[in-house]
Amino acid sequence: VKSLRSFIGEAESKKSAIGHFNISNLEGLWGIFNAARKLDLPVVIGVSEGERNFVGVRQAVALVRSLRESYSHPVFLNADHTYTLEGVREAIDSGFDAVILDGAKLAYEENVKLVAQAVEYGKSMTNEVLVEGELGYIGSSSKLLDEIPEGATASEEQMTKPEQARDFVKKTGVDLLAPAVGNLHGILKHAKNPALDIERIGEIRKAAGVPLVLHGGSGVSDEDFVKAIRAGISVVHINSEIRLAYRKAIEKSLADNPDEIAPYKYLKAGVEAIEGVVEARLGLFAKKS
Ligand SMILES: [Zn+2]
Repeated sequence: VKSLRSFIGEAESKKSAIGHFNISNLEGLWGIFNAARKLDLPVVIGVSEGERNFVGVRQAVALVRSLRESYSHPVFLNADHTYTLEGVREAIDSGFDAVILDGAKLAYEENVKLVAQAVEYGKSMTNEVLVEGELGYIGSSSKLLDEIPEGATASEEQMTKPEQARDFVKKTGVDLLAPAVGNLHGILKHAKNPALDIERIGEIRKAAGVPLVLHGGSGVSDEDFVKAIRAGISVVHINSEIRLAYRKAIEKSLADNPDEIAPYKYLKAGVEAIEGVVEARLGLFAKKS
């Protein structure tokens, strides 16, 4: 099986993107994996610090590795939003394919320093692990949003600047960069999520010189995705959409089957709901634009 790095390079040259979807449990993993296999596409499984604590760090590695080996299918594991160097080390030592040191909320120089240390550790351990840095805060709520979260990038002023992206990559040596370009973690309850700044994506990609990752893909329109991928996004993160689909499906399943107590029966609807969302998103990202 080829490396994640080579799949990302391939996606970039085809002007398509790889989907990254988060899991909290085995149902999520199967839903995502089923969709990726069905479409014969590579996929990245993400676990944030909270998700990792729930699934287990080494257990997440074992699960993803067993799928990759059993089915000879390219499925990779990313340590999403890791806030400390210890967390990065733990993920790399446990066998993750990629890690994110998220210093977006820190002062710029602090962010640079921490991410550079993460890159250095990754390189000292293996040539294969990808290290991602973030530039620009886009919120971090796990709930449906009433409004754009405090401090999150809402105006052009706060978005990632191409010149800073260039400086950041040069100083840290990151493999991947996640910019703030109008994207938001979470889904707004009463309004559409903001539109993406497509022109900025193109400028940042050029200045940064490394593939770009779009976080907060939930709630982004199909048209914006296609344009963003064409402009230089090579990996897209989706989490809130699958969480919402899972929860709704399980609520309905429980309501429809009040006497059912076998989890594998009433949770099946959750797996199918996730599979449906992932299939639609993966299909869109893989389209040559
Ligand atoms: Zn994210």
